[in-house]
Amino acid sequence: MSDTQHLHPETICVQGCWNPRKGEPRIVPIYQSTTFRYETSEQMAQLFDLKESGYFYSRLQNPNNDVVAAKIAQLEGGVGAMLTSSGQTANFYAVFNICEAGDHFISSSTIYGGTFNLFGVTMKKLGIEVTFVDPDADEATIEAAFRPNTKLIFGETLSNPGVHVLDIEKFAHIAHHHGVPLIVDNTFATPINCRPFEWGADIVTHSTTKYMDGHATCIGGAVVDSGNFDWEAHADKFPGLTRPDESYHGLIYAQAFGKMAYITKATVQLMRDFGSIQAPQNAFLINLGLETLHLRMARHCENAQKVAEFLRTCSKVAWVNYPGLKEDKYYALAQKYMPNGTCGVVTFGVKGSRQEALDFIDRLKFIAIVTHVADVRTCILHPASHTHRQLSDEQLIAAGVSPDLIRLSVGIENVDDIIADLKQAFT
Ligand SMILES: *Cc1c(COP(=O)(O)O)cnc(C)c1O
Repeated sequence: MSDTQHLHPETICVQGCWNPRKGEPRIVPIYQSTTFRYETSEQMAQLFDLKESGYFYSRLQNPNNDVVAAKIAQLEGGVGAMLTSSGQTANFYAVFNICEAGDHFISSSTIYGGTFNLFGVTMKKLGIEVTFVDPDADEATIEAAFRPNTKLIFGETLSNPGVHVLDIEKFAHIAHHHGVPLIVDNTFATPINCRPFEWGADIVTHSTTKYMDGHATCIGGAVVDSGNFDWEAHADKFPGLTRPDESYHGLIYAQAFGKMAYITKATVQLMRDFGSIQAPQNAFLINLGLETLHLRMARHCENAQKVAEFLRTCSKVAWVNYPGLKEDKYYALAQKYMPNGTCGVVTFGVKGSRQEALDFIDRLKFIAIVTHVADVRTCILHPASHTHRQLSDEQLIAAGVSPDLIRLSVGIENVDDIIADLKQAFT
């Protein structure tokens, strides 16, 4: 794969997983090819039997995807990763890889609205049930949600949009006590600010659409495997990994692939059958984003801290949430898990009616109203009117989104200009 494993994250961002030899391109070329040539039919047969690894069809693997997946795996400290066409797919595959009809899992309730729907509505139609728990509840309360058929726990390092900090160690402890893995969506923190595997998470997911791409050019996702979960120790719970897969002549993933069992199954089974792969062109663009991730995250956090401190002193603002503020409910957890900063997303409420909040948003000049978050340009959204409008007020509160919450995604422009735009919109 690559000889950059021992390097610091900043160097992995820039140089990781692409080692051109004499006369080869310095930059990863775009492998815009659906298929790959072989010389004998035997060589091809070996690939289909998973006896050899190699490219054959871009629905399963492509060199662009593999460079980016390997880089993300290295940044997270995992053994392998797979790119998906979106963050939604990443979370779906991460869960569906070990859950089937009749199974159950537990999720933090403070998660991205799209994931909330995926878990609570769409996966239910596949016969997979979820129980949402308050992530701040004590261990006993969360443990009460376990059933004999519970297969995993899920949470977000920093919830979108509430920016609540997940107590990863607490969740890992609960999960492992019950013999199931912890899956953490690390989209907002990115491995620059938090590496959930170091705190006991087993699988990490990403919407690469956000900070990893960072420029709002392409939708994408990733699933990363720590290689740490012992599937065979809980063989009865995870038959998909520990019993023969008839679609590969009875191969058993945990035996054939060891630490790579989970991520290999996700690729050769789920991706083969569902095909939500990232396009090579998009992987190429995400790689450009990754090259500056470490610089951008530092600036996002620095700017967001200043914006949060400005909002706190602003008479028109009812409340501010940012885990970098000393009085924030999640300050201590943020210091523990993300001592170098959290992310660029700040949430706040404007005093007065919902209409006054929307009028404030409409008066902003370069801070634009967009559905997106977490790219270089500062943008804003009112989740109750936009991304989360299908949720009732009760569900909104359970998801950590109060009806007056405004989500401000602080970009990497000059922070004085960002604050000046906010100021003029308040007055
Ligand atoms: C955006 C987002 C997703 C979904 O990702 P897409 O790339 O939009 O499909 C999942 N989780 C989190 C935390 C997100 O912010």
